[in-house]
Amino acid sequence: MTHSDAAALQQVCILGSTGSVGTSTLDVMARHPGLYQVFALTAHSRVDELLAQCLQWQPRFAVMSDADAAARLRSRLQQAGSRTEVLAGSSALAEIAAHPEVDTVMGAIVGSAGLAPCLAAARSGKRLLLANKEALVVGGALFMRAVRSGGATLLPIDSEHSAIFQCLPEDATTWQQRIQRIVLTASGGPFRQRDPGTLGAVTPAEACSHPNWVMGRKISVDSATMMNKALEVIEARWLFDLAPEQIEVVIHPQSIIHSMVVCRDNSVLAQLGTPDMRVPIAYGLAWPRRIESGAQALDFTQLSALTFEAPDAARFPGLQLAWDTLRGPQGSTAVLNAANEEAVAAFLDGRIGFDQIHAVNADTLAAFVLPAGATESLDGLLELDAAARRCALQRIGSRSR
Ligand code: NAD
Ligand code: MG
Repeated sequence: MTHSDAAALQQVCILGSTGSVGTSTLDVMARHPGLYQVFALTAHSRVDELLAQCLQWQPRFAVMSDADAAARLRSRLQQAGSRTEVLAGSSALAEIAAHPEVDTVMGAIVGSAGLAPCLAAARSGKRLLLANKEALVVGGALFMRAVRSGGATLLPIDSEHSAIFQCLPEDATTWQQRIQRIVLTASGGPFRQRDPGTLGAVTPAEACSHPNWVMGRKISVDSATMMNKALEVIEARWLFDLAPEQIEVVIHPQSIIHSMVVCRDNSVLAQLGTPDMRVPIAYGLAWPRRIESGAQALDFTQLSALTFEAPDAARFPGLQLAWDTLRGPQGSTAVLNAANEEAVAAFLDGRIGFDQIHAVNADTLAAFVLPAGATESLDGLLELDAAARRCALQRIGSRSR
């Protein structure tokens, strides 16, 4: 490879490379070695997975937010003769996301832990592929200001938001005039038809077995409660600058239509495809071009039906919290996100039942007193996130079984 070829390669930093979206991103990149190069990989604490990725991709940097894990990775990479430099701690995540040699950042960390590094990428004007919806749920207003002032190119990776984005023209200044409302589709998750009276007995394994998508554990539980769709409503509000009443949710169990735009004239544009995250990832990487993603093509002759139904509010009470918090005081969506992250973690390690996740979220929202000005800065948002988690943990403690 000549020097000019190397200079033409997009230098990519993957935040959360060991996760479901992170590994799918590497899968797409592996199909296009002439277009993309891995500059940095990051993970929280899974040393073995990050080690294997570093040996395969030989990035300049590997970052582990957990310091002990970083030390273990460093010594194992040295033993293997690797030249990858290992950095430790969450501040190193933000540093690497803003590194001057990075062109593209994939934000695939789960939870509010992704906010600071994604914000750093936005502020430094990167091409930012955003899967980490929690970053927008926690800090939407601040985040979108940083995208504008930093001159970043924000590309949605969540499949629904990528679908909306694919249905819209490249020129974002025309969107407001064009969009009447958007319709986010939802599969309904594994419990769409389960007797609601039995939801208390659901195990983490059952909640994580999604009918159409293979994903990380947190988003899988969120899909089962439909909190994932609530977070996506909030995410859409910021990505497309919509009023809460312009965002609708419909259950579409086949997950073939990934979402729709209803235009001012009532014409509806939809994006379809097999459920495979490599499609939105490939679009984010190559936009405005299209590249091969590895996803299977849709076979229309094999589709028995595309069906739609309204979400059942009694079965999925958390969904409504999206509109409630968007209409509530600033910072309410961050409180909801913090409570939900703690409630999901508590469910996954057996401290509360599946049917108590919503109660923890609703109780935390009701009890938490929002401090003034918290949403104006990253520090304010991180303090708000921490305080709301403490409030949620009290509620979880009083419910523990
Ligand atoms: P995952 O749990 O599979 O992976 C999470 C990644 O984040 C891992 O690499 C992990 O090491 C890292 N991480 C976790 N906690 C961290 C912390 N405290 N600090 C730094 N890094 C940390 O999650 P996923 O399913 O890939 O989802 C990632 C994000 O993408 C989530 O926000 C999710 O909502 C969103 N998303 C995922 C999918 C999907 O198909 N998996 C689809 C749409 C959106
Ligand atoms: Mg989604």
